[in-house]
Amino acid sequence: MEKRKVGFIGCGKMAQAMVNGMLQSSFMQREDIFASTKSMESAQMIMETFQIETTLDNKQVAGFADVLIIAVKPHLYGEVIQEVSSYVKKETILVTIAAGIDLAYIESKMSKEIKVIRSMPNTPSLVGEGMTVFCANDKVNENEIAFIKDLFASFGQVEMVDESLMDYIPAISGSSPAYVYMFIEALADGGVRSGIPRDKAYKLAAQAVLGAAQMVLETGKHPGILKDEVCTPGGATIEAITTLEQNHFRGTILAAMESCNQKNKDMQ
Ligand code: NAP
Repeated sequence: MEKRKVGFIGCGKMAQAMVNGMLQSSFMQREDIFASTKSMESAQMIMETFQIETTLDNKQVAGFADVLIIAVKPHLYGEVIQEVSSYVKKETILVTIAAGIDLAYIESKMSKEIKVIRSMPNTPSLVGEGMTVFCANDKVNENEIAFIKDLFASFGQVEMVDESLMDYIPAISGSSPAYVYMFIEALADGGVRSGIPRDKAYKLAAQAVLGAAQMVLETGKHPGILKDEVCTPGGATIEAITTLEQNHFRGTILAAMESCNQKNKDMQ
């Protein structure tokens, strides 16, 4: 596949996770990645950490990139895109990673017709276990979609969906690592409460979550069946399940996701 240059406008937590994943998997070479930030401190730190070129000039990155990833906070998208609009090459694929920024919004901010990918990655991309969901506008051809899939696959799993679903992706895979960290922290606290050393408690809790996730992905079994397989009749696990149900464990997660959806909607 043809080599493409990737530019990042904004290189905070999410972009750094993507850069690290792209480099660790050797999908990208350092010289083919260029990033801009707002502050000199961030530019310096990123250059030193990832050994990639950085700048404070967004227009330079826009002119360099074959794939231009806009990785600033959602409220800055409008001004950043207007700033770089005339520097983006005709063939460049512009990639968004912000909740609530739709394809039509990007197209309306550009001074010319442009290829746009709307995506929602997550921070486990840093360790090559990201989940990126995306859709494309009708200017992006099959080969370009294949390249974008390979790019996202270099730091995790990828799914292409219809744009109508994109507003709901942050709640399930973009933001959800935060809920899972809380779950792991709570499991570890419970272990510490019983006398298990803190470092071992994090390892036990995190590996149990990782293993359970892998069971869902690899066995293809319904999560309810996998849960049933852990519950001995009359045993201790079903007691724990009963307490979780009495305290609205699943209902709370559904309500949290609804709050996430609503907030993303309010921010549009
Ligand atoms: P972040 O850590 O705050 O990073 C923001 C970056 O934007 C920083 O590098 C900042 O530079 C830079 N920046 C600010 N103003 C700029 C400007 N005018 N021109 C160029 N760069 C500018 O934010 P983040 O968590 O990575 O989020 C970035 C985007 O990813 C957001 O749209 C968010 O919705 C999306 N996202 C995040 C996650 C997540 O888990 N964090 C998951 C999915 C999607 P300085 O450091 O110099 O200020």
